[in-house]
Amino acid sequence: MDSGRLLLFSLSLALVSRAFSDSLIRITPDRRSSTKLSRDDVLFCDSWRFTVETNDAGVWVSVPDRCVQWVKDYMTGDRYRSDSEFAADDSLSFAKTVQIAGDGKDVWVFDIDETLLSNLPYYAAHGFGSEAFDDSTFDEWVNLAEAPALQASLRLYREVEQLGFKIVLITGRIEPQRNVTEKNLVYAGYSNWERLFLRGRADSGKTALVYKSEKRRELEDEGYRIHGSSGDQWSDLLGFAIARRSFKLPNPMYYIP
Ligand SMILES: [Mg+2]
Repeated sequence: MDSGRLLLFSLSLALVSRAFSDSLIRITPDRRSSTKLSRDDVLFCDSWRFTVETNDAGVWVSVPDRCVQWVKDYMTGDRYRSDSEFAADDSLSFAKTVQIAGDGKDVWVFDIDETLLSNLPYYAAHGFGSEAFDDSTFDEWVNLAEAPALQASLRLYREVEQLGFKIVLITGRIEPQRNVTEKNLVYAGYSNWERLFLRGRADSGKTALVYKSEKRRELEDEGYRIHGSSGDQWSDLLGFAIARRSFKLPNPMYYIP
């Protein structure tokens, strides 16, 4: 190859290589943040999320097809973390206004799944709420006892404990899952809870709303004062014997009545 041809060849190679790297630069962020989401989809899914988080939508069964990618982006991106931090900050602002009596009866109630513990690794492998819930695979995940803490909730948990609240956990998990649940809570950094309620035989068939309300009523009957409650489902928070202030955490993946 003479020097003219070599120069031409080198120039062509440089141009092709530049075009290739430009196309990579363009493609990479698109791939990461959803090539399939149109502006209409983003608008639709933002509004859909508003209705499910505020409970305007009431009972809903699964993430709409057009929002699966949106939910994935939300859950795995900064927004979910940021929304969770906001909820924790609001909770803590209220917690600091409570006069702790010092008799061990001032309580903060936490739900567990998608509140203290994040099952995101499980849902990432199961369509982010687009697949029908499957008890057996979810139970296998629970038995691993490796769900990480939702970091904003771990911070809140530690701070309300420092403020002098007794911490009570009310979960829809069942009594036979007590050991793995305790093991997972410790693994994720939680300790020192006053009470852990799981569904017993007498609770089967009850909605989460009724079951959790009944447990709060039991606490009240024992003289506990429930100041705050944190949960990712409205059924963690509504019903009867409700806390003075309830704090809804984000969860656009599933709805539990
Ligand atoms: Mg939950």
